[in-house]
This record gives sequence, structure tokens and C-alpha cells, in this order.
Amino acid sequence: MNNIARKLPAVLPDGLADALRAAVGPKGWSDDPQVLAPQLKDWTGYYTGTTPLMVMPASTAEVSAVVRACAEAGVGIVPQSGNTGLVGAQLPHGQVLLSLKRMNKVRGVDALDYTMTAEAGCVLADLQKAAQDADRFFPLSLGAEGSCMIGGNLSTNAGGINVLRYGNTRELVLGLEVVMPDGRVWDGLRRLRKDNTGYALKHLFVGAEGTLGIITAATLRLFPRPVEQATAFAAIRDLDAAVELLSILRAGSGDAISSYELIPRMGIELGLEYGTGMSDPLAAEYDWHVLIEFTGTVADGTARAKLEAALGEALEKGVVVDATIAASTDQSLKLWRIREAMVEYQYRAGASIKHDISVPVSRVPEFIRRADRALEAMVPGIRPLAFGHVGDGNVHYNLTQPKDMTREAYLALSEDIHRAVYDTVAALDGSFSAEHGVGAVKRDELKRYRPPIEVELMRRLKQALDPQGLMNPGKVL
Ligand SMILES: Cc1cc2nc3c(=O)[nH]c(=O)nc-3n(C[C@H](O)[C@H](O)[C@H](O)COP(=O)(O)OP(=O)(O)OC[C@H]3O[C@@H](n4cnc5c(N)ncnc54)[C@H](O)[C@@H]3O)c2cc1C
Repeated sequence: MNNIARKLPAVLPDGLADALRAAVGPKGWSDDPQVLAPQLKDWTGYYTGTTPLMVMPASTAEVSAVVRACAEAGVGIVPQSGNTGLVGAQLPHGQVLLSLKRMNKVRGVDALDYTMTAEAGCVLADLQKAAQDADRFFPLSLGAEGSCMIGGNLSTNAGGINVLRYGNTRELVLGLEVVMPDGRVWDGLRRLRKDNTGYALKHLFVGAEGTLGIITAATLRLFPRPVEQATAFAAIRDLDAAVELLSILRAGSGDAISSYELIPRMGIELGLEYGTGMSDPLAAEYDWHVLIEFTGTVADGTARAKLEAALGEALEKGVVVDATIAASTDQSLKLWRIREAMVEYQYRAGASIKHDISVPVSRVPEFIRRADRALEAMVPGIRPLAFGHVGDGNVHYNLTQPKDMTREAYLALSEDIHRAVYDTVAALDGSFSAEHGVGAVKRDELKRYRPPIEVELMRRLKQALDPQGLMNPGKVL
């Protein structure tokens, strides 16, 4: 329970706790260990944090007052939205935790402008709904959409399942409102599609993981609402066929293809073994599959017709060896369930060492083959689970422990395994972090794999905007 009289740990300088509590009011803070506990542990359970105080401002003015007070006292702040980040970036280590969850208002939806302005603590699923209520579509969609918030999505430049057609979060933002590290507010909530007035400041804060300022609101792009969808599950000849098929589908779909997800045999088996009511959608067993979605904004059957025609061409060419197209929304959901179950159940198969990498789309097969070879030589019996948004060159390359090895012995190899994977990625001109960010976990990789000039430019930007180094210290750089 909150208790105004309770002493905070001595880490906060005299007077700061009182100033922060006054800034946010009685409902806007907590130092109760029970309230703090879920905010200090991440979704993977691997990372934990500590804080003397969590503040939950309810307005931009309150965020500004908190940041100003912390800046004057020289105390660090860690912004947190939905706490679904996967690189430990949203957890404080002694700093003040600033939760955006009370800033959850949709400030407005403009159907004519195809825009929506929302506060940083709006849950992504609620924003999708707000757009739908105005007969519009907000395309950002990811597994954590029931919990993650737009402030976190922007700060991680989240990707997800619709990037192929609509782009990353970066492509979906028109304007931002940001509280700067000294507490001043930058109101850049412009709804303009064209605005070439100097440096594109908003893009500095997108993907900055809270290290340059606190995003309090955003103006987002909306799209015509898809009213029909066609979902297919296709077994492909081999890994190379994943790239060939994507090319056939893109050429044949106009702009209709929105998702293209790679699923290996092991992914299906995880669902069959640990899931309930799941079945293999195809009659025979194959090594590689893709889940494909076409959507259309006119309900005239075009999405399905285009998908059928493109898959027919791919079958004729031998690129696809078997396929099924969902006959109903229910069947489509069942196909998507295979994709989701794979993520949920991989933990049941043993310890998993994870990577979220990207390479140029055409090099995805080469990456998987090279990395598999290197890892199997290093750890015989290792079980690679390579899946994900391959339409964007993004592979979630997760490695499950060999069946005859202990969890501890396997996890002790983590560093060597990461190195083998990231070296392979680097050799193919890829990125060690496709969509999850750098956070606390991949800072050393940034130094190792990015050219010194790139890291120096980032440091200079950080120094220019946050000279005291108080915004999410110890993350990214
Ligand atoms: C089941 C599951 C599936 C996922 N699938 C995907 C996926 O497909 N694609 C993908 O990209 N990610 C995915 N993620 C990762 C995660 O959901 C995203 O990174 C998401 O964008 C984080 O949003 P959040 O609100 O939880 O942010 P948080 O975890 O709270 O914060 C993430 C980062 O943003 C900073 N931050 C938060 N709010 C603000 C703010 N208002 N101003 C400044 N900085 C801020 C934090 O300090 C931290 O650095 C998945 C996660 C889970 C658990």
C-alpha cells in the first residue's frame, strides 16, 4: 500500500521523493514492493530490476515535472510502457521507474486525414480497436499486442507480422510529443505527410529505447480497413523456395500480401506435442512451410483469387509442394495458432538460446544453412528453430538444447553460441537485432558489429540531447 510517510531508500537525494510525489499526486506513485514486483521482472523471466520509486504520471505536464525534478537532482529515469520488451531495456537498476500506463487516452481519430493521435500508454490492441471503430486500420500487430503500449512500440521501433506491407512502427508515425531530458516538452504532433523542414527529429526518438527522451504521445498513420483476407499454409520445396515463393507472391498479389512467416517442421511438432486441439494442416510431413496472408479492402473475393492463382503458379514450378487455403475465419485462426504456439511452447522442449536477426531477404536460406552447420558442429544434437517474419529478412533463430545435455551445461555455452550466430549474420551483411533492440543485453554487440563511426555518432547524439546521461542510463550505449 502507498504510504506517504514511508521512507524511501536513501538512493534518492533529500527532497526528490517529496517533489516527485507532489508532481504526480497520491494515485501516481508507489514504493510498495508488491506493486513494484511485476514491473521489475520482464516477460522472459531472465531479467530483473530495482527501483526506489515508481511514478505513474497521468499527463504530459506531470511527466515534464517528474523529469525536471530528476534532472535538477541528477537522478536517472527509466521509462516503461507495457513491459513486454525482450532485451531488458525497460527495467531500472536503481533509477526512478516512470510508467506511462496512466497516459492511456486516444486524443483523436481523424478518419479523413487517416490519422490517430494517442498517448504513449495506450495498449496497442486498444488502438487497433479505436481505428476499427472509425472504419480505419492501424496495421501494427504483434504477439504482445494485448499488453504492449504504443510508447514502447515507438521506442523499440517494433516490427511484427504486417511489416511486409505497412512497414515498421517508424513508417507508421507522423508526429511525436516528447519530454526532453531537461523536462521541456517538444510538441511535434504534426499530421503532415510531407514536411521537409530540416532534420527529421521524430525519427531520433523512434527506436531510441528511452535513452533520448520520453515519448508522451504520437500521431499515427491509418489505412483503409481490410475487409477480406485469405490465409494459406504452404509446404515449400526447400529453404531456397521460401525466397522464390515470396517473389512469385509479391509479383502476383499487387499490394495484397501482408504476412509471410516461415515455419519449420519442429515448429509444427511443438504445437502437436504440447498444444491442445492442434493438427498438422497438411497430409504429409515436410521440412519447411510458410504461412501467407493476403488482404483486400474491397470484399469482392480478389484476395483469395490472387492467392490461389499465385500458389497455383508456384505449385506448377515446383516451388510449393503442397498447400491449403483456409476456407473460413476459424480455419485461418487455426493456421495462425501454429505460428503463435511455436513461440509459446519452445520453452517446454528445453532451454532455448534466442536470436532476433535480419539479413537481406535473399540471404535468409544461406544464413540458416550456415548457422545450422556451425552450431551443429559446435554442439552436436542442438535443435535449431528458425522461424519468423522472413518476408522482411527477419529470422528468430532460437536454439533448443540437445536432448542429452543438462540445461545448465547448455546455457553455459550461450556466449559461444551467440558469437557463432552473430558472426554468421555479420558475414552476410545482416543485423544482430532486427526488431527487439539493443537494451541492456546487446550493448557489447553494438560495439563489436557496428563501425566505430556509427557508435561515435550515437554517443554524440546522446551527449547533445542528454548531457547528464539520465535517460535510461546503461541501455543501448
Ligand atoms: C509474446 C511477445 C511477442 C513479441 N513479438 C514481437 C514482434 O513480433 N515484433 C517486435 O518488434 N517485438 C515483439 N515483441 C517485443 C515487444 O513486445 C516489443 O518490443 C514492444 O514494442 C515493447 O512495447 P512495451 O510497451 O512493452 O515497451 P516496454 O517493454 O515497456 O519498453 C521497451 C523500451 O521502450 C522504452 N520506452 C517505453 N515507453 C517509452 C516512452 N513512452 N518513451 C520513451 N521510451 C519508452 C523502455 O525504456 C524500453 O527501452 C514481443 C514480445 C513478446 C512478449
